[in-house]
Amino acid sequence: MDKAQLDATSTVAIIGGGQAGGEAATLLRQNRFEGRIVLFGEEGCLPYMRPPLSKAFLAREIGKDALVYKAAVAYEKAQVEMRLGERVEEIDPGAKKLLLNDGATFGYDQLVIATGGRARKLPVPGAGLRNIFYLRTIADVEALQPLMEAPRRLVIVGGGYVGLEAAAVAVKRGLVVTVLESAPRLLARVTAPALSEFYERIHREAGVDIRTNVTVSGFAPCQGGTCDVECANGESFAADFVLIGIGLVPNTELAEQAGLHVDDGIVVDAASRGSDPDIYAIGDCAMHVRHGFLRRRIRLESVPNALEQARAAAASIAGRPVPEATVPWFWSDQYDLKLQMAGLSDDYEELVIRGNMEASTFIAFYLKEGMIIAADSVNRPGDFMAAKRLVGERKEIAPSRLADESLPLKSLMVAAAA
Ligand SMILES: Cc1cc2nc3c(=O)[nH]c(=O)nc-3n(C[C@H](O)[C@H](O)[C@H](O)COP(=O)(O)OP(=O)(O)OC[C@H]3O[C@@H](n4cnc5c(N)ncnc54)[C@H](O)[C@@H]3O)c2cc1C
Repeated sequence: MDKAQLDATSTVAIIGGGQAGGEAATLLRQNRFEGRIVLFGEEGCLPYMRPPLSKAFLAREIGKDALVYKAAVAYEKAQVEMRLGERVEEIDPGAKKLLLNDGATFGYDQLVIATGGRARKLPVPGAGLRNIFYLRTIADVEALQPLMEAPRRLVIVGGGYVGLEAAAVAVKRGLVVTVLESAPRLLARVTAPALSEFYERIHREAGVDIRTNVTVSGFAPCQGGTCDVECANGESFAADFVLIGIGLVPNTELAEQAGLHVDDGIVVDAASRGSDPDIYAIGDCAMHVRHGFLRRRIRLESVPNALEQARAAAASIAGRPVPEATVPWFWSDQYDLKLQMAGLSDDYEELVIRGNMEASTFIAFYLKEGMIIAADSVNRPGDFMAAKRLVGERKEIAPSRLADESLPLKSLMVAAAA
């Protein structure tokens, strides 16, 4: 079936008011789509940025206002109807209708699903205790903030980014912090062992008790509202409160019910279009059937990816060329360390460190078949842009030259091209 021709009488509906949905809405207008644009967002507030939730907002360094992604006026100017506080309950792709939480229906010509994801729950006994928390929304952080005071004991389950960022905030505020990670090392899915060791050292030096190879088996309530975190190896940790950060489950139920192809994400092509040509999916809920740069099937959970997919969908809906996929990247702030990562490192063969890990200023380059496939930069924001380009161009540079700080990265770029 060909994509329906759109005109000024057409309606694009967007489900989900996160950064992906908010970006797609305004970009549709920038791409000169002339019809009606309507965004349904169940959270009841303007699209906001989640990255600061586990960083500056948790630390109360910024207020709620600073989280807003685009001011209301941006949507007004783009003539986007923001239906905040409204939840889409069902999609009927045959009739091209949405069923809303108040029982009303809403017709669309093209649909963008930007429903994001929710925190993965830990399915163990006692997980429903009232001092067990997750961190995905503003409301989640608002529930945590009053507890983030010394000398409370916080146990964090999960040594990924969210857990480690929260650990950094908490220990700085004087809490007694323990991180329990079931894998043998921190950040195991996303970085090399050298980087895991680096972050483990930083956290230990700051006073965080890091335990790896520890699997949480349950929570038991204790006197005074505290709890014991019980582990499979028989150990237990007393906690005033617990934060679970073990990943995300994509919100794909609507798409599944609608009969779209879903496989750990709503499967989409390079234009972010799903198996129904009039339905797109973008952001954390979408699975690239083949990512344009990575050349593989992948679901990415990052702001740059959410924005890139919003650009692709908006261009495609408006009948414009879809921009090419770029190198995926991500960042994480812990203490005074700015980590920026480009590319995916999981199948690397060789690691090259440029800089000084002891002094916390370096870039780790990941090589495969001689090509740079990924780079993790710590406190090198200036060099990160060059590193990202090297990844983007899959440059082949001799490891000895890459590690040699007397050769500026920019010169390596030129030399490699020559
Ligand atoms: C604590 C934390 C820290 C992070 N840090 C970083 C970072 O440092 N760098 C980085 O790149 N990324 C980071 N991320 C990831 C990044 O925030 C996400 O990749 C990004 O927010 C994805 O945006 P999205 O719009 O796809 O999804 P979401 O932000 O999840 O938005 C989806 C929205 O859709 C709504 N919705 C769902 N179903 C319906 C429905 N049926 N009807 C109406 N509305 C619905 C949801 O309530 C939600 O508001 C972080 C995430 C978290 C939680």
